[in-house]
Amino acid sequence: MSNWLFEAVRTAAPGDAAPFIETADGRTLSYGEMFARSSQLARALVSIGVKPGDRIAAQVEKSVEALLLYLATVRTGGVFLPLNNGYTASEIDYFIGDAEPALFVVDPATRAALTPIGNKYGARVETLDRDGGGSLTALAAGESDSAFDDVSRGPDDLAAILYTSGTTGRSKGAMLSHDNLLSNALTLKDYWRFTPDDRLLHALPIFHTHGLFVATNTVLVAGASMIFLPRFDADQAISAMTRATTMMGVPTFYVRLVQHGGLTREATRHMRLFISGSAPLLAETHRAFEALTGHRVLERYGMTETNMITSNPYDGDRVAGAVGFPLPGVSLRVVDVETGAPVPDGDVGMIEVKGPNVFKGYWRMPEKTKTEFREDGFFVTGDLGKRDERGYLHIVGRGKDLVISGGYNVYPKEIESEIDALPGVVETAVIGVAHPDFGEGVTALVVLEKGASVDETAVLSALSGRLAKFKQPKRVLFLDDLPRNAMGKVQKNLLRERYADLYT
Ligand code: ATP
Ligand code: MG
Repeated sequence: MSNWLFEAVRTAAPGDAAPFIETADGRTLSYGEMFARSSQLARALVSIGVKPGDRIAAQVEKSVEALLLYLATVRTGGVFLPLNNGYTASEIDYFIGDAEPALFVVDPATRAALTPIGNKYGARVETLDRDGGGSLTALAAGESDSAFDDVSRGPDDLAAILYTSGTTGRSKGAMLSHDNLLSNALTLKDYWRFTPDDRLLHALPIFHTHGLFVATNTVLVAGASMIFLPRFDADQAISAMTRATTMMGVPTFYVRLVQHGGLTREATRHMRLFISGSAPLLAETHRAFEALTGHRVLERYGMTETNMITSNPYDGDRVAGAVGFPLPGVSLRVVDVETGAPVPDGDVGMIEVKGPNVFKGYWRMPEKTKTEFREDGFFVTGDLGKRDERGYLHIVGRGKDLVISGGYNVYPKEIESEIDALPGVVETAVIGVAHPDFGEGVTALVVLEKGASVDETAVLSALSGRLAKFKQPKRVLFLDDLPRNAMGKVQKNLLRERYADLYT
């Protein structure tokens, strides 16, 4: 048995001289260099005692080295455990305590603050850059770059533990096997038609499933290359589009591109595909992007636990506001939340999925794992959705965000879309807040454009003819912005806490 995931990378590699990564400052890492440098790094890991099955945690800035650490970990049979760069030391304390890695890799700048945390939980701490003797980078530089003998791993062995984004509560560690990652990457490569000629504009963080697995693994199994930007910047992204063929982004990227002013047909002439995911892409953004560039964004849907689940079609109609169809190999059903029976098309229900893409369970949460899987092996995503008459799946929102007001189910997205469409409105979050008469009161939190003169009465009167009475907000409040996490997702749990006493 060989190394399930890395063997596929090796098989797809288009030759040593072919480019793998081009950085923003114009340096290139070829496939040959990727193999050589990840071999060195894998040897360095082994030299400090990393064993197959060990967890290797990393909280490091996005860099070529950080990506090589992921590959080297997989090659040593280790379990890669990347952590969000935005986490503070006290948050890191929770994750390291939960994950108990054998090794914790950090940036030189955070070494002093994070070493005691690593040590507290028995992890060895190394840095990824040259800051002297103990650093992993320095150790790797002293190792041979001849081919490392990859540790044998099978399809069901763990390759990574990835914490969820923490949008609905505390992040959970999702255990992902070699085959969870590889099967999804191969599917996406085919579905989105990646070839060695593709160059992906990569401006996503690499601690999340989107930038690390969807983007990087798809590129790797296609033998394609990527332009690595440290973070998203509309100016940089637009200029990189002359050298790229595809981009994967979160909706915020598309909003910023549309607002930029420099986004034109000419600027995107070389691009063949724009993909969006991780949060809902507003239909307005989809249309504005198409009007400026002539490109229809392809929206897909997935989660840390399941990898990618659906995609809009490559050739067919890419529908604004829909996430498309289940990917090949993925079974998907929409079921009644109470009874678990499939609902008719057009009705809202819980989305459940099954397939080689679905994770092995939550790290150290056996009870939670048990409750999130049905007896027949389907995983309960927690997302509500419905199929339209053409079979396209629409995400209606999170089950946890459903508002039950006066006994009626209210789906926040429906109300948000109505308010978002009003002139002067930038965006809206609708939440349920405890209410003495209704159980929960529909509450709208609205961000306005600068200088817009919209007030609560104006919003309510605009909605009165458009929404049934039980769906209408009891209150409309105005905020400067909505709280978001690192992936740009609105944190409604924080809003619910903030307004918990609104009606009492
Ligand atoms: P946590 O599980 O910790 O609360 P999270 O669910 O945001 O955080 P991720 O795994 O990063 O963590 O995100 C997956 C979720 O993102 C999905 O369950 C879904 O709610 C949302 N999502 C992903 N893609 C889309 C999309 N195209 N449209 C709407 N929602 C999406
Ligand atoms: Mg989630």
